[in-house]
Amino acid sequence: MFSEELEKISWEETTEAIYSKTESDVLRALGKSHCDVNDFMALVSPAAEKYLEPMARLSRKYTEERFGKTVSMFIPLYLTNSCTNSCVYCGFHISNPMARTILTPEEIENEYKAIKKLAPFENLLIVTGENPAKAGVPYLAKALDLAKPYFSNLKIEVMPLKTEEYAELTKHGMNGVICFQETYNKVRYNVYHPRGMKSKFEWRVNGFDRMGQAGVHSIGMGVLIGLEDWRTDVTMMAYHLRYLQKHYWKTKYSVNFPRMRPAENEGFQPNVIMSDKELAQVTFAMRIFDHDVDISYSTREPAYIRDHMASLGVTTMSAESKTEPGGYYTYPQALEQFHISDDRTAGEVECALKAAGREPVWKDWDASFDFVK
Ligand code: SF4
Repeated sequence: MFSEELEKISWEETTEAIYSKTESDVLRALGKSHCDVNDFMALVSPAAEKYLEPMARLSRKYTEERFGKTVSMFIPLYLTNSCTNSCVYCGFHISNPMARTILTPEEIENEYKAIKKLAPFENLLIVTGENPAKAGVPYLAKALDLAKPYFSNLKIEVMPLKTEEYAELTKHGMNGVICFQETYNKVRYNVYHPRGMKSKFEWRVNGFDRMGQAGVHSIGMGVLIGLEDWRTDVTMMAYHLRYLQKHYWKTKYSVNFPRMRPAENEGFQPNVIMSDKELAQVTFAMRIFDHDVDISYSTREPAYIRDHMASLGVTTMSAESKTEPGGYYTYPQALEQFHISDDRTAGEVECALKAAGREPVWKDWDASFDFVK
């Protein structure tokens, strides 16, 4: 389990190693065709800031070699804002006296139909708060069953599950799981996640092993930028990625670096701010480190960054997202989990990507591929 590997990696020593990287460490990393985590540390270090242009060129080259000019399009659907956790940075936390919604099967299907009218989306991400009693595995299985006639690729972003539960949901058409560790700083983790199942660091960080053991086809990882030093957190994620690739080599991986914005909700303010340049740096660094990993940008990021980065490393994007349950049809005015920055329609995003020389792809997976050996 990765928690045992993580015990061997000191947060403080990793931070120190990153901040002591020199320009020659950066140049050495840029000269390698296959980078290790030590090289990744150099690429995300302050010493690499003046090498953004060569990093961008290399990132673009590796991305086009592996993905061509394609950008895979997906859309999230929030099924519920009911949550038993207390993440201090999220408006859906249990202590917020807001109205809670759990979409009924009929409402879920109405959302699917409404999404299909927006654009030819085939990649759907089903999202829930963490309420296993009311929106647990049977509820998710039903939502997946209902989705199959409408979408060819189904992913979930829900509470960490048991291995057998992931295996069960694959039988209902689930093709991928996304889970954000939020931060790998174990000492500080409970400052942000004080109560509920999410307060159990090991349960969350080992959830990725359980996905791998269940044979989940695609695993998405992420750290929430704004909690701890982002350079150290993304380095820990790089260690985690390498570990998973070694143990579950048949699985496809994606990464995400969602940036928390100041005043995103009234209470919590980010401890660290990642600038646009730093977001570009970590994106290039990740692509140079791993040529195959999907790099995903959500509509949290503004349009100008998404359009620009689509040709420099990003390979997956959401569009026209609603981050409130039932936001496409049933409850369009409900409270969002986070505010989106890119509020263009899916058609507008498609046009912008084409204008930038990219090829937006709505369908890049079909359940029948599961039977191809
Ligand atoms: S981030 Fe997720 S788990 Fe935490 S309170 Fe919000 S919805 Fe619940």
